[in-house]
Amino acid sequence: MKIIMLGAPGAGKGTQAEMIMEKYDLPHISTGDIFRANIKAGTELGVKAKAYIDKGQLVPDSLTIDLVMDRISQPDCNGGYILDGFPRTIPQAESLSAALRSRGDSLDYAINVHVPDEKIVTRMSGRRACPGCGHTYHVVYAAPHEEGICDKCGSALYLRDDDAPETVKKRLAVYHNQTQPLIEYYCGKKILRTVDGTKDLEEVFQDITNILGA
Ligand code: ADP
Ligand code: AMP
Repeated sequence: MKIIMLGAPGAGKGTQAEMIMEKYDLPHISTGDIFRANIKAGTELGVKAKAYIDKGQLVPDSLTIDLVMDRISQPDCNGGYILDGFPRTIPQAESLSAALRSRGDSLDYAINVHVPDEKIVTRMSGRRACPGCGHTYHVVYAAPHEEGICDKCGSALYLRDDDAPETVKKRLAVYHNQTQPLIEYYCGKKILRTVDGTKDLEEVFQDITNILGA
């Protein structure tokens, strides 16, 4: 099964993608996580990507598309995958469709996690990320057992620089301009499924499993 996660920054794409990964045993590919790993490792890609990420802008398609095409051609993706944070532009979506089509393949579902803008800033200011395993928490809605410490790997949690309210506002504007058109795009391809991302995260997951099947 090949799934993409759509939705505003902070809608809960990564949270749900991790749950889908565990239940359906599919690789979870997050472009944001790939960029952050490159920034941490100080690679050339990381240095270039950071300049855009810090400003709340998208990393250019020229740096993003080949990276994802290469990742989904790895053997662990043969049985499918969950793409989280990609595609974010129409050219990205078209490159993905073309790559799949060339293998006689196509996406199964575009899951759109819908959360209105007014709830996004609260979501993001409470988000805490783990630098060790990448798991995401929320200080109120998904708190770790011990404050500031990852339940899974024990690392100290951090607040992402790009989750500062001013950057979140820019990211939301970028989302509406560049990414939201993908909702129409995948609706036209008849694979769009929208879930209410304001529900409790277990309820959102239940709605997603109702779509994907047992
Ligand atoms: P995205 O990957 O779409 O940017 P995340 O999955 O990182 O979003 O979620 C953003 C923040 O909101 C995180 O702190 C996460 O714990 C929290 N969150 C995710 N889903 C829900 C939900 N259904 N209700 C409340 N908080 C949520
Ligand atoms: P995320 O972790 O999905 O919130 O992504 C964090 C940041 O990484 C985004 O604000 C973008 O700057 C960048 N990014 C992630 N995925 C993409 C993508 N598909 N295209 C362009 N930029 C991306």
